[in-house]
Amino acid sequence: MGNPTGFLKVERQLPEDRCAKDRLIDWQEVHEHMPEEKIKEQASRCMDCGVPFCMSGKSEYAPAVAGCPVNNLIPEWNELVYRGRWKEALQRLHATNNFPEFTGRVCPAPCEGSCVLGINADPVTIKHHEVSIIERGFEEGWVQPNPPKQRTGKTVAVVGSGPAGLAAAAQLNSAGHLVTVYERADRIGGLLMYGIPNMKLQKEIVERRVNIMFEEGVTFVTNTEVGKDISMNRLNEDFDAVVLATGATVPRDLPVEGREANGVYFAMDYLGKNTKSLLDSNHEDGQYISAKGKNVVVIGGGDTGTDCVGTALRHGCNSVVQLEIMPKPADTRQANNPWPEWPKRLLVDYGQEEAIAIQGDDPRQYLVMTKKIEQDANGNVTAVHTVNIEWKKNPEGQMVPHEVPGSEKAYPADLVLLAMGFLGPEGKILDDLGVEKDPRSNAKAEYGEFATSVDGVFACGDARRGQSLIVWAINEGRGAAQQVDHYLMGKSYLPK
Ligand SMILES: Cc1cc2nc3c(=O)[nH]c(=O)nc-3n(C[C@H](O)[C@H](O)[C@H](O)COP(=O)(O)OP(=O)(O)OC[C@H]3O[C@@H](n4cnc5c(N)ncnc54)[C@H](O)[C@@H]3O)c2cc1C
Ligand code: SF4
Repeated sequence: MGNPTGFLKVERQLPEDRCAKDRLIDWQEVHEHMPEEKIKEQASRCMDCGVPFCMSGKSEYAPAVAGCPVNNLIPEWNELVYRGRWKEALQRLHATNNFPEFTGRVCPAPCEGSCVLGINADPVTIKHHEVSIIERGFEEGWVQPNPPKQRTGKTVAVVGSGPAGLAAAAQLNSAGHLVTVYERADRIGGLLMYGIPNMKLQKEIVERRVNIMFEEGVTFVTNTEVGKDISMNRLNEDFDAVVLATGATVPRDLPVEGREANGVYFAMDYLGKNTKSLLDSNHEDGQYISAKGKNVVVIGGGDTGTDCVGTALRHGCNSVVQLEIMPKPADTRQANNPWPEWPKRLLVDYGQEEAIAIQGDDPRQYLVMTKKIEQDANGNVTAVHTVNIEWKKNPEGQMVPHEVPGSEKAYPADLVLLAMGFLGPEGKILDDLGVEKDPRSNAKAEYGEFATSVDGVFACGDARRGQSLIVWAINEGRGAAQQVDHYLMGKSYLPK
């Protein structure tokens, strides 16, 4: 324990975010930095608990019970930060997490939801310590390529370059196998690259890590869709094992009248094209869906919807609203959601903060159901028609929506973005291979084993568990690598 009385004397503090209005003029990250002495002071709040719930995320209890899914050694590095022993903190951080620069920026931090200090005070700023350690490591030049001393002669193909595929590749390469990552997009990173917008995770950060992996000997093949540009049979013949890390990006659609109108898009089309155009040409090529001057309606109150709000505001939209069918969460944890569960409470994320700064109000409207999308004579969207709902139990005890009479409303709209979650992975590659699926259409593979129904083929990340979090994708990529290593060598020294 760094400081036995730190948690009594020091209040939780995070670095300031950039001013909400100012940051809308660029696509740079929202967060500012904090001086070293302040970070050390924050690290002194860690109580080094006998049972550190913060680091004990378990797949079988997710997402209800929190804790870090990669089991980061949080109290250890909190103490090392407090003592200014940054290099050792970095070693302990990398022992469990291949990519702390991603999680330290965009993880929702289930660790903080289960921090013991959080029972009766504000939790330790764990996520901020994580990003501070890894960025210090990069600044000091401590994060260097570390290729394996020996090669095993075994080859592994990883399909998909999101955090699951990258974690699997990094681990398998470190065990001496020759790893080739296939990616259908033109850039490596999966949703780290073309899902999460630049203001949450600048793409140089992704490229910095990919370059290190390249120096360590991982081969990356972009613009290559497995199952189309190269067959799965070919991969099976050419490689000793295959890891499927293709994500779960089939979007949930909205089956209402007018869905086919011009100007109605899936959120991922909007966000992905925006980042590609930004990186290719700073938006000069015009190859993106612009919200400039438009009334934007985002359907879906979750994180993807928030990313659409932040992106539309940066485009210079005329107005933006975000419609959510579920009730507004309470401001604080409720009695039926006790510690150490993930706290379900109202958060004002960066997109809403920016909308409040520009429009004066939170853009989210709760308990709203979309009934119809109106279009003009040219087929262009003009409005979204909604009705308010109440959730009530039906005779079978299930909660179902009931329309509130007289609550019909029309939101003017020139651009409608559908951000209502994801149904599962694209099925073709699984079908081509004959990989069994689970009832939710994900690749069927037991957590911890990651082996599919096809010999030598493993699955991990969102393709196995459904749309989730980066930290779970890293956990699964590491776990799958350990199982592949065991499959190839008969034993494995890789950590799970
Ligand atoms: C808009 C958005 C914002 C998000 N924000 C956050 C956040 O802030 N924090 C967080 O923790 N999580 C966030 N998530 C969730 C997180 O990004 C995912 O859970 C995570 O990226 C899953 O990693 P993965 O490696 O399993 O799959 P993905 O990241 O989806 O990567 C899969 C890759 O496989 C490629 N691929 C698919 N099929 C083939 C094929 N046949 N051949 C070759 N390549 C193929 C795809 O092109 C893709 O690049 C967000 C998700 C979205 C959509
Ligand atoms: S990876 Fe996420 S859960 Fe784990 S320590 Fe970092 S912020 Fe917390």
